Amino acid sequence: MSEILLKGGRIIDPASGFDATGDILIADGKIQSLSNASLQSNGQIIDCEGCIVSPGLIDIHVHFREPSSGNHEETILSGSKSASQGGFTTVCTMPNTTPAMDDPMLITEAIHIGDEVGRCRVLPTCCATIGRKGETLALLDAMCNAGAIAITDDGDVVECDELMTASLEACKKHNVPFMQHCQDPKQTVGGVMNAGAIQEELGLGAWPRIAEESIVERDITLNQNVGASWHAQHISSGGTVELIRQARSRGESISGEASPHHLLLTDAACRDIGTMAKMNPPLREQHDIDALKEGIADGTITILATDHAPHPEASKDRPFSEASFGIVGLDCALALYAKALIQDGVLDWPSMLAMMTNQPADLIRRPDLGRLTEGGVADITVIDPRCAWTIDAHAFGSAGRNCPFDGWNVTGKAILTMYGGKVTHAEASMNSL
Ligand SMILES: [Zn+2]
Repeated sequence: MSEILLKGGRIIDPASGFDATGDILIADGKIQSLSNASLQSNGQIIDCEGCIVSPGLIDIHVHFREPSSGNHEETILSGSKSASQGGFTTVCTMPNTTPAMDDPMLITEAIHIGDEVGRCRVLPTCCATIGRKGETLALLDAMCNAGAIAITDDGDVVECDELMTASLEACKKHNVPFMQHCQDPKQTVGGVMNAGAIQEELGLGAWPRIAEESIVERDITLNQNVGASWHAQHISSGGTVELIRQARSRGESISGEASPHHLLLTDAACRDIGTMAKMNPPLREQHDIDALKEGIADGTITILATDHAPHPEASKDRPFSEASFGIVGLDCALALYAKALIQDGVLDWPSMLAMMTNQPADLIRRPDLGRLTEGGVADITVIDPRCAWTIDAHAFGSAGRNCPFDGWNVTGKAILTMYGGKVTHAEASMNSL
């Protein structure tokens, strides 16, 4: 494999705190040199001046619809193409496929498809319960042994206390995190949007914050007897941020993630743009956004994740109560995070990139990822922080087009993505020297 030299970029490695202008030499899929690098043989020199050179971005929460027994809206190929266009080199796929990921053979199959066709590293999670039905514990030992990176019934909560405790015990045994979809179904019957004034005005079913917070509270309590790593997915409520803050201050292994839509949109979007704003959990209010940002600034929330969820157009083009929940996010997430967090003065680039590189890598017990190290895998993202562009859902690598940010003007773009030393995405503007 020929050498590639990334020249003159601002190299940021959040894990080590390294932040300086320099060159990176890549060969044989690995980072050969992080300083004083020069090509040893014929190779390509890529001009990175003015750009950030970051460890490859990691998204621990995506929905691809494969393996699948029928039609699917997103394959591992299209989903990983979306990831690479957005600057991601690793994704964790959620288990709510059809059939659900409750069988070690399916874990093996997903890893195999990812290895064969993936434009990024695809790390599948496994179900906690068979069919994600919350009734019987799935074959957790076998699935973790097959390579499941985390346990979750995402899309649904594990409602039963006994099954939840057993799942946490399996997480502890296999040193993987439990990722919880925090939604008490008893409190969200018929719920489709945030409980509040706009929901009442629209006459739609209410989904209160307490439905999320009560599960967070229960799980933190259950986990005190187990001591596993427990992670709250797609936090929507300010109350959740506070519960996680308290648990972390007690030294418990509790973490959480924030998604672009929960940082940039409120429940008013349900009135203004309709079903493109229908999310699970729902969009909340400005004070929740403020609390999420506060939690990000003080290190309570340590991970950014998209909850990338492709749906066919027909499933969004319906009355609000009947439409699918969720949006696609991988292609445009980086610029949206930059808008919500950097341009709003909450974080700087190194601290934001930590939430997309080494911090998610640490949660999924992959300290070999999310870092720039000599001899380490060459998963690298080159970001132009000044690039102003307009989000165009039709240009997405994803097969999904359901994106409420279509047409938004944003700043910051992944202009080159390298996965295992191979370029998986390059903007036409990239200059070879
Ligand atoms: Zn979820």
